[in-house]
Amino acid sequence: MAHSRHFSRRHFIGSLAASAGYALLPGVLRAGPVQDPVVNTTSRDGKPFSYEKVPWKARPFPMKQVRLGEGPCKVAMEADRQYLHSLPPERLLHTFRINAGTPSSAQPLGGWEAPDCELRGHYAGGHYLSACALMYAGTGDEDLRNKAKVVVAELGKCQSALKSGYLSAFPVDFFDRLREGQRVWAPFYTIHKIMAGLLDMYVYCGDEQALDMVQKMAGWVAGYTGPLSYEHMQRVLGTEFGGMGEVLANLYAVTGKDYYLHVAQRFDKKQFLDPLAAHRDELKGLHVNTHIPQVIAAARQYELTGDRRYRDIAEYFWNEVVSERSYCTGGTSNGESWNTEPGKLATQLSTNTTECCCAYNMMKLTRHLFGWAPGARLMDYYERALFNHRLGTINPEDGTMMYYLPLAAGYWKTFGKPFDSLWCCTGTGSEEYGKLTDTIYFHDDDSLYVNLYIDSQLDWPEKGLGVKQSTRFPEEQGTTLTITGKSPAQLAINLRIPYWTQGGSVKINGETLPAFSSPSSYLTLNRVWKSGDKIELSLPMGLHIDSMPDDETIQAAMYGPLVLAGCFEPVTKEMTYGDYEPKASDQRRVANISANPQQPTAWIAPDARQPLTFHTVGQTETSTLVPLYQIIHERYAVYWKVDKKST
Ligand SMILES: [Zn+2]
Repeated sequence: MAHSRHFSRRHFIGSLAASAGYALLPGVLRAGPVQDPVVNTTSRDGKPFSYEKVPWKARPFPMKQVRLGEGPCKVAMEADRQYLHSLPPERLLHTFRINAGTPSSAQPLGGWEAPDCELRGHYAGGHYLSACALMYAGTGDEDLRNKAKVVVAELGKCQSALKSGYLSAFPVDFFDRLREGQRVWAPFYTIHKIMAGLLDMYVYCGDEQALDMVQKMAGWVAGYTGPLSYEHMQRVLGTEFGGMGEVLANLYAVTGKDYYLHVAQRFDKKQFLDPLAAHRDELKGLHVNTHIPQVIAAARQYELTGDRRYRDIAEYFWNEVVSERSYCTGGTSNGESWNTEPGKLATQLSTNTTECCCAYNMMKLTRHLFGWAPGARLMDYYERALFNHRLGTINPEDGTMMYYLPLAAGYWKTFGKPFDSLWCCTGTGSEEYGKLTDTIYFHDDDSLYVNLYIDSQLDWPEKGLGVKQSTRFPEEQGTTLTITGKSPAQLAINLRIPYWTQGGSVKINGETLPAFSSPSSYLTLNRVWKSGDKIELSLPMGLHIDSMPDDETIQAAMYGPLVLAGCFEPVTKEMTYGDYEPKASDQRRVANISANPQQPTAWIAPDARQPLTFHTVGQTETSTLVPLYQIIHERYAVYWKVDKKST
């Protein structure tokens, strides 16, 4: 049903509310037993063993080996950490206990976790666990891990009470409705979040009970899907089902039980995957965040089965979405859907463009493609989405998250309420800011990839060395890497030279190298490194224009990797919290820009006193531009209508 017409979750809620009368809202690390299944191996007979048929050529480091230093990423991570700490386990468990017939007097959460919301449990028993597990891996926050372990243990009691292996905060008869083709929101979507949360608790926190519970859930899923004919299952897949294929594939990667891989393949939706395998963009009309997780599942299937078709699907899809269906921020979707033919975006600027979950999932997919064939274009995209769509969609004051990032001019950012929104994007956001260390560095046996310029510390015990990256990027136009280690080591260090750099240079121990590398490539420095060696990378930023592919008079201004936005009047607290998006009728008028096409950035001049601040020049009204990620409580404009200046 969702695949053939415009569909959004909020529309679903709206009609559901109307029909049912629901009240609805708008430290010290201990080694875990396994690593992230796509990072590393599990063990068999005490030896490392991997079930991957196609291991990644370049792999990330386990998150516990990378720590963030000061900067905007750390600010976002700390806001998220504070938010996760604020959620009381008793409230998270409430609807699960009610569903299992166990008394609970806790105050129910609201929004998408309310006792009458059909997605309840997706955050409380799903995203929450993933987020705590990732945050633990990324920071060593043991209190958070312990809280999450308590939630796992209590959910285990609920699962035992339900007997069949099923675990959810809603009754199992939602799945009868799904089987019979009756109206129901997205039961497998929710089950996926819970399974992924449990698996993450095993993978990152070593919680054996969580692994046992997720296997019982997989058994239940197998029992539900097994008796359905292929055609019947394909009809079931017409209702959003999240990353069921991915979590089952990951469960195989961790346990080696082939059975899970077979069950994962039951979630291959033919109608979606076949055109992609044939390199046809038939994405128009699809609900975006229903489908990106299916491509991540395809990527995992490629890695675990070696079937090249899955890789073709993933690479074609990524290219099509990034080249033809993404805005300057790296975000995709409008009203949660792809509404147009490829490359047609000029009509798509609204108050509900670019759902945050879509950016989260596209970035996740990007890591797989990079693992197969490390290339700068992939990490250029990752950086674009990170600095323009992920930073700045969490409120640094309280860790609340956005749903959409509006790209129509003259609106503002809206954030969820801490206990009464708990949207899908609250969930993916909670995970995102807990895993900001997972992509900065990748490696293979002989080389290190420095993908992102973020102040951080990497420890690489296998090589006996560490790398301290010191930078105030993006305020600083470059970075400094200092090597530490007991003995010298031969290593190729690959530095990403971003697409946006305007020149650049690199110094080793104070001496400038005669050569550099072209934009959107990796510069390789291969030598014996010893403790104290210093690499200073200079990446000059400049102004550039990102126009709509189908209308060059609609333009966004960028500075280096950063989308600049006109920053206007502040909005009230009431306007900031609780709604999915700003009111469409409450639009500030934003004057057109007048510019000479020969000098497309001449209408913007830097502020001599403040970094990353710009002003319009030669316009009827002067505006200030700052990086979009820095705007939290002000109206803004990302895309401007630009008229040709008469000369
Ligand atoms: Zn979302």
